[in-house]
Amino acid sequence: ATPTALLVGTGRGAQLGILIKGPEVLESTRRVDTVVLDKTGTVTTGRMTLQEVHAAEDALEEDVLRLAGAVEHASEHPVARAIAAGAEKRLGTLPGVDHFENVPGKGVHGRVEGHHVQVGRIFDGPLPEALEAAKEAAEDAGRTAVVVTRDGVALGVVTVADAIKETSAEAVRRLRALGLTPMLLTGDHARVARSVAAAVGIAPEDVIAEVLPEDKVDVVRRLQGEGRTVAMVGDGVNDAAALATADLGLALGTGTDAAMEAGDLTLVRGDLRVAADAIRLSRRTLATIK
Ligand code: ADP
Ligand code: MG
Repeated sequence: ATPTALLVGTGRGAQLGILIKGPEVLESTRRVDTVVLDKTGTVTTGRMTLQEVHAAEDALEEDVLRLAGAVEHASEHPVARAIAAGAEKRLGTLPGVDHFENVPGKGVHGRVEGHHVQVGRIFDGPLPEALEAAKEAAEDAGRTAVVVTRDGVALGVVTVADAIKETSAEAVRRLRALGLTPMLLTGDHARVARSVAAAVGIAPEDVIAEVLPEDKVDVVRRLQGEGRTVAMVGDGVNDAAALATADLGLALGTGTDAAMEAGDLTLVRGDLRVAADAIRLSRRTLATIK
């Protein structure tokens, strides 16, 4: 490969809003056959908003929201921000939290008003029937549902919505048109993940859900072990290790610095369609070299 031809490709990349770490990156895109897409913030906007509050039979919706909002106030997670902001908007000032603890990929807990409160997917006991039904209905509609417990007892379920980016379905079509297999990777519940996948055209068998943040990199390794050449597209701190391990790491310019440092390419505008353009561009550039 002549360095000049590769550099021409890189210049065209810049015009499309693709920042390429070095011309040699284009080489590794040629063999890519699988494109793993992070869900939150990559396929979706990641800007979540509070939706429903469901209380157990003997509980009040206001208590569910106040306790959940109080604990989530101490967390930076997009689910937490949505719940805390929604609770404050509906109820005003929230009580304080002591002994706050974050469980990555699972949720949060702490002491509020003298009770131990958990929010997320930490509770794994059975839910009262009405709460379970409300939770599953929300998840089937693509919303993230979290369980709120007080002193170990299920008090309610809160749901948040995250809009799918307008460009995501088109991006998946373009990846398929290049003969690539798009996959969806998330820590969220499988039901939510399958709903988002269906909306953008990813097959249910290509959804990998309920993956803990530190395990995303193992998913990439497993796919590579199956003989695949993997591109990973992500935005979060959680995605950095997977971006670095993938054969090609594509970071969103709208995401975190950690993701951009770990990736080989940055999609400056956060437009997923450009991921397909980047792969096509590199193939074409390499074709002109040969
Ligand atoms: P993603 O892969 O979608 O970015 P995470 O790995 O950060 O998600 O979290 C996975 C799941 O864990 C979330 O969908 C949510 O159900 C739960 N969770 C994580 N953090 C919180 C939190 N602060 N409050 C409630 N639930 C949480
Ligand atoms: Mg993300």
